Formats: sequence, structure tokens, C-alpha cells
Amino acid sequence: MANEGRRCEEAGVDMIHFDVMDGCFVNQITYGSPVLKCLRQKVKIPFDVHLMVENPTKQIKFFADAGADIITIHAESECDVPRCLKRIHDLGAKAALAIKPNTPAKSALDFIDQCDMILVMTVEPGYGGQSFMEDMMPKVTQIRGYAEAHGFPGLDIQVDGGINVETAVTARNAGANVLVAGTSLFKSEDMRALCRTLKG
Ligand code: ZN
Repeated sequence: MANEGRRCEEAGVDMIHFDVMDGCFVNQITYGSPVLKCLRQKVKIPFDVHLMVENPTKQIKFFADAGADIITIHAESECDVPRCLKRIHDLGAKAALAIKPNTPAKSALDFIDQCDMILVMTVEPGYGGQSFMEDMMPKVTQIRGYAEAHGFPGLDIQVDGGINVETAVTARNAGANVLVAGTSLFKSEDMRALCRTLKG
């Protein structure tokens, strides 16, 4: 993981997105904060931690202490969302709120004043390698429009799932400015070139 992290860094990737899965919120289990803590010694670019866990409340401090720069919780998880977002800020990280494909934009917009970033999932969370759901783009545009109309022009809007050369353009045109690429980037022959293309 450290080698891949350094490869990303050298290719011009802005930050590393970690999908933390607990086997409850999603079926798969990935890794916890100790793994991040080790990687933090080896990789310097920001760490963006996406908590796909049933109860993020107890995890926030572990990941903040491990060196997370951004911590994302899910609107659908079993937690007190405003309290968790505040906790993330109190620990010195940026706070983000994620919504799954079937969750309306409103579930994130209700907490926009506490969010540095809103993550719109463009696949069902849980597995890599899925196809991009283009029908999520109206949700991205809705959030971008709401943010601009309500005094949050600096809000980051992230899309996660199925990002490649084509879908990156679609996502950017819809109003997203933070793109998570997994499969396309790691399987590319020239990560640096692809990274540049994805950024547009
Ligand atoms: Zn993710």
C-alpha cells in the first residue's frame, strides 16, 4: 500500500481516498486506522477517509489521530450527523458527508453549513470496479446550485465510483470538483497522464 501510495504521489494525485468498510454498513471489510497510521509515515499527500461504517462515532478520533485530513461520514449511518461533523472539525480535520445513490440531496444539504465537502456516491458503496451511475448527476448539479445560492461557493463536491476519462468529464460538467478514481487509475499504463486527463 505504501508503494502504491508513493506511486500516486509521484503521478500528481492530490490526495488518497481510503474506503473504510466495516462488514456491517457494507458487506466487505477493508482496514482500520492502524493501517492509515503506518501509511502516514510513508506518504505525504493528504488522506481522505471515507467511513462506510455503521457507527462512525467511535471511529472519528482513531482516524483523526492516525493522520486523516478529511473524514467523511455517511448520512445513512447510525450516528448523530451534526455531532459527528462537529467532532471531526474539533479534531482538526475537514468534515464531509456522503450520500448513497438512493439518498436524496436534501439529506446532505440539511447539514451543508457544517460540511467542507459533500460526497455523492456514483455506485452502490461496497465494491470497487462498478459502473458509474450517470443518473446521479442531477443530484450533483442540485447540490452545486444550492451551495452557490446559499453562500457556500467553496463547497467541495466529490463523486466516488466508476470515474474514468469519460465519466470524469460528465462529473465535472455536473458540478463536481473532487473525483475519486480507483480502478481506472491503478490499472492505467501511465498513471501520471491519466491523472492529468482526469483533472481536466
Ligand atoms: Zn469512497
